[in-house]
Amino acid sequence: MINLKTDIQNTFKYFEGSPVLRENDREYVLEGKLHCCVAGYEELYDIFNVAIAVPFIFPRQLPTVVEKDQRIQRKVEYHMDGKGRCCLGTETALYDYMQIHKITSFCQFLEQVVIMFFFQVKYFLANGHWIETPEAHYTQGRIDSYKRIFGLSEGDLKKIVSMKFKRYAKCLCNSNRRFDKCHGKYIPLEQIQKDFKEMGKHWK
Ligand SMILES: [Zn+2]
Ligand SMILES: [Zn+2]
Repeated sequence: MINLKTDIQNTFKYFEGSPVLRENDREYVLEGKLHCCVAGYEELYDIFNVAIAVPFIFPRQLPTVVEKDQRIQRKVEYHMDGKGRCCLGTETALYDYMQIHKITSFCQFLEQVVIMFFFQVKYFLANGHWIETPEAHYTQGRIDSYKRIFGLSEGDLKKIVSMKFKRYAKCLCNSNRRFDKCHGKYIPLEQIQKDFKEMGKHWK
């Protein structure tokens, strides 16, 4: 696997001019004007001024993306929070998507998640409907992702989240394999524990 910094530098070609790459104690921050273009939809081409934080431990932790110029209204229905952070989907759904699409580098993440996000919002603004309906956000999004990814009913999920989920537990998907030998290969345990806590609060 290539070095993360080189991986990030490989994405400079998607930016206008040269983007700025900084780093702090836990992540790289890439800032610049990102060309968002998807083949077959050239009429929706646009440029967004973004700041993308990429944790040093990517892909075990996922990047966060901020749209800086308020070109997209900061509304939940556009999957933007009040600070301009883009809702790329729940983390667990993203890990699942990355596994299905074999996304292992930041360069692929930028192409297939970040640029795709801006394309989908542009498509929604132009057509009044989503090209592919996104999952709900926040807690409801988590519940929906877990039901879909692991094939769980809401009742099963409610029962499971009240227990402390451990690395050696059986996987949630009912494969009869241990979590760390099954979905735990690409979904961090800490993520599941965090999600369980939130879903647990929701159902309390
Ligand atoms: Zn969302
Ligand atoms: Zn599994």
